[in-house]
Amino acid sequence: MRFKDLLDVVYENNPEADLCTLEEVYRFAEDLHKGQYRKSGEPYINHPLHVAMILAELGLDEQAVAAGLLHDIAEDTNCTLDGLIDHFGSEISFLVNGVTKLSKLECTNKEERQLESYRKMFLSMAKDIRVILIKLADRLHNMRTLKYQPPEKQREIAQETLEIYTPIANRLGISRLQWELEDLCLRYLEPDRYYELVNSISMKRQEREEYINEVIDILTKELAKENIKMEIVGRPKHFYSIYKKMVRQHKDLNEIYDLIAVRILVDSIKDCYGALGVVHALWKPIPGRFKDYIAVPKANGYQSLHTTVIGPRGERFEIQIRTYEMHMTAEYGVAAHWLYKESGHSKGADNSGQLSWIKQLQEIQQESSDNKEFVESIKMDLFSDTVFVFSPKGDVYELPVGSTPIDFAYKVHTNVGNRCIGCKINNRIVPLDYQLQNGEIVEILTSKQINGPGQNWLSIAKTSMAKNKIKQWYKKDRREENIIKGKESLERELKKHNIDSSNYIKGDGLNQVAAKIGYHNKDEIFIAIGGGSLSPVQVINKLKDELHTADKQPENLEEMLNSKSNREVKNKNRKKSSSGVVINGLEGVSVRFAHCCKPVPGDPIVGFVTRGRGVTVHHTACPNLSNLSEEEKSRLLYAYWENYEEEVFQVKLHITGLDRPKITADVMTLVNDTKVHITSINAVSRNFHVNIEMSLEVANLDQLNVLIDKIRSIKDVEDVKRSLAE
Ligand code: MN
Repeated sequence: MRFKDLLDVVYENNPEADLCTLEEVYRFAEDLHKGQYRKSGEPYINHPLHVAMILAELGLDEQAVAAGLLHDIAEDTNCTLDGLIDHFGSEISFLVNGVTKLSKLECTNKEERQLESYRKMFLSMAKDIRVILIKLADRLHNMRTLKYQPPEKQREIAQETLEIYTPIANRLGISRLQWELEDLCLRYLEPDRYYELVNSISMKRQEREEYINEVIDILTKELAKENIKMEIVGRPKHFYSIYKKMVRQHKDLNEIYDLIAVRILVDSIKDCYGALGVVHALWKPIPGRFKDYIAVPKANGYQSLHTTVIGPRGERFEIQIRTYEMHMTAEYGVAAHWLYKESGHSKGADNSGQLSWIKQLQEIQQESSDNKEFVESIKMDLFSDTVFVFSPKGDVYELPVGSTPIDFAYKVHTNVGNRCIGCKINNRIVPLDYQLQNGEIVEILTSKQINGPGQNWLSIAKTSMAKNKIKQWYKKDRREENIIKGKESLERELKKHNIDSSNYIKGDGLNQVAAKIGYHNKDEIFIAIGGGSLSPVQVINKLKDELHTADKQPENLEEMLNSKSNREVKNKNRKKSSSGVVINGLEGVSVRFAHCCKPVPGDPIVGFVTRGRGVTVHHTACPNLSNLSEEEKSRLLYAYWENYEEEVFQVKLHITGLDRPKITADVMTLVNDTKVHITSINAVSRNFHVNIEMSLEVANLDQLNVLIDKIRSIKDVEDVKRSLAE
């Protein structure tokens, strides 16, 4: 290759490129490298020239190409950065300097060096993505000429490439670079497997090509009928991906069916889906193999439709469908950005929209204390496989595989994380350590009373982002803050109850009761109130009992609070009771479900302290709670659901409709079909209308709501109401 070839490519990309400067740069570099040779025996300048060519072929601007020509001068010659600025200006020298810094790695320990280089690369990436692209091009040419290195060096370089450079190329979406690098790595790391693969694939090539041509012919005809303008190409699979698949799925080459693969390129997104329709009408799709990366692009911006079908000869093959523009992004990744630029180019990551993960990277960098933690975080958050989930509003969130609702909650917002008390996946309650799956709708249940992560969350959360936020929360001393908050809300509540607050807030009165509700002293009570794990009403109840001990019966709240579990309450906040309802601060209190409103899991609930019978749990909308006296109101306790899966709950529905024959039977059939047990049903007809009262056993509110919706959709049913009062 000659310098002129490089100029041709640069000119083709941008006829207005400054070719004179580029020529000067080339002469300058050639001069500096004079007398140096590569291991292959070629003059050294050939290496930077090839690197520059790779950059030009990626469509990068002439500054990046120039920096490619100069990338080794600082290391191998005695040229200084200042000299460069004088000659070629600050932009080019900034790039050269960036690449040079990456190459100079001080650490000697191999692992340390790798971690350090990772970190440096990510940081420079955040400053100007072109630095990394130059480094990748440098690595690609070194890999192409790896055969001149001694064998142990070959393995070492290939290993490093596979661990550091190909993941970066992947994350930047530059699949051409990634694939070539991966294939070269395979060749040096697993030479036997590599050559075996190359041979066996080339053996069946003719057969495969005939098949692909047959597929293309059929597709061309059918798509033309639909007036879809398109281009179909057979798609070369690269060896490394086949190798990976064989290893991962323990299959031999004959079983890897997407060796045959076809790509359809069309003009518009509409045509993508149109073409997909044609494909699926022609050949049966394999369930579970269809992926819509157009609606939900990959993190690196990749978009395409993928489907695997059973083709004309009964063999499976894969089809990808995308627009030309998507294809550019798929091949060139971030580099496509330069290919598309019209006038005045943007530099660095900030302008390339899709790279929000670079911002994420900077955050990780700020939050991690050492290289190891940083790299671990990156590997987890940025390089692991991802799942895409949706918020109930339809926003897409991308998380590493294995992420939990807690990771999702913190990704949405720190406050959502800190206030999270539960999670619904596709409308079903799941435990917080549930592993999110692609396509699920994740709804985080929060509570205003709770502020702060659960104690075991650090071991549940997968992403470093969530972990850091949880750590931060614990680090920040909440004590003072909560004392003040708790004091204020207790004081307010005392005033409401006309109790003189000075003795309790400033004086010693509260210390005396503290032990009886499971706390050491009044500060702890304030902290518990401020943190949301104890309600001021509970404390006031306690105080009232203290104030009126004389005229109280023994089986009052005090008795209850002093019961067996009292000691265990100390320092523990949210506690489960076996009933599936958590009453804050109280463990093991016997909970009963109110017969009037019959709450089911998912309902907003409240506890009501009854004399001698513990706590009754009501639906917050229960009519019996609407006319409470002040004294009765003070007996309400904050409550929520937890761990109730195996139970069944009674509910009563009131259904009205036109009295046509069989309407009651229709309702019963439908309920039976949903496997919900009917415990009683009573239908009364009057004036052409029917009133059906039905008692059912349901597991939770979601099941109930689904059922209510279904009943509503029965013909002639006018309304379905849940009855909250007996
Ligand atoms: Mn180099």
